[in-house]
Amino acid sequence: MQRIAIIGLGLLGGSVGLALAVRRPDIVTCGYDRDPAVRRRAAERALVTAVCETAAEAVAGCDLAILCVPVGAIGAAARDLADTLPSGAIVSDVGSSKQSVVEALAEALPHHTVIPAHPVAGTEQSGPDAGFASLFQDRWCILTPPADAPPEAVEALTGLWRSLGAKVEVMDAKHHDLVLAVTSHIPHLIAYTIVGTASDMEEVTRGEVIKYSAGGFRDFTRIAASDPVMWRDVFLNNRDAVLEMLGRFTEDLTAMQRAIRSGDGEALHDLFSRTRAIRRSIIEQGQDDASPDFGRGH
Ligand code: NAP
Repeated sequence: MQRIAIIGLGLLGGSVGLALAVRRPDIVTCGYDRDPAVRRRAAERALVTAVCETAAEAVAGCDLAILCVPVGAIGAAARDLADTLPSGAIVSDVGSSKQSVVEALAEALPHHTVIPAHPVAGTEQSGPDAGFASLFQDRWCILTPPADAPPEAVEALTGLWRSLGAKVEVMDAKHHDLVLAVTSHIPHLIAYTIVGTASDMEEVTRGEVIKYSAGGFRDFTRIAASDPVMWRDVFLNNRDAVLEMLGRFTEDLTAMQRAIRSGDGEALHDLFSRTRAIRRSIIEQGQDDASPDFGRGH
């Protein structure tokens, strides 16, 4: 690959551009964002080799176009490219849900090779100042190619993500959505809900929720500070898997309620021991560090 177009220059688009600049300086990156202020900031931070004034200009002559926009905007962003995207170019994205993205891309660009992707890496920040080059280091990137995708295109994209430091896994889009509903989408929904509940109670607690915010609540507020547009789109686009997993979660929560009400300490202790072991294996697999309080300075 010699030329890559990046559409959307926020946290993910900016990080892809910066990571390519550091690790693949042989590749020219052309970026576009629909917000002129974002385009200006992207040029100042040199997120890409060239910031273009239109999506068409950005994709002209590219080998790969990566759409780094919210999942609800992917169809519209792809339609903007339809007339100018070279016929041999691969189209990919970084969206957090995959089934609806596969469908939107196939509809907007029926004659192109589409290999959707999801780097499972991010922060609660968004915008052109949020990106950094090491975001993908040692993180997973899940590719969800359609069954008829050319193997050489899958290989090319796999090689590209590996060169950015990521570990790559290929998965069916529907399975991806179910797995990510559990590991990412439901935790975000719980964080949004619990912080929302606490904020509704502020009148009763007279500011004490913020004042005495303990570790547990503070960690939820970090997740609940995530980008509202991105997460609105994730829930609207991964509706079925989220609702299925939410059903499971509600049943488990009811079981916890029953254990507390009936004084079943054994059930509580068993679950808490199991969950502690999960935390340990996440650390052992290098997906988080073991410093107390997530290594925050005090
Ligand atoms: P972001 O920082 O808000 O950046 C997205 C940018 O895309 C915004 O500047 C937005 O402009 C622009 N945009 C929207 N529609 C566009 C269009 N049609 N053409 C050109 N630009 C357009 O969001 P992000 O965090 O980078 O997220 C981007 C994607 O990455 C999402 O699909 C998300 O699900 C996925 N993702 C995010 C994370 C994470 O932790 N944040 C992790 C993995 C994957 P406006 O502000 O004007 O809309």
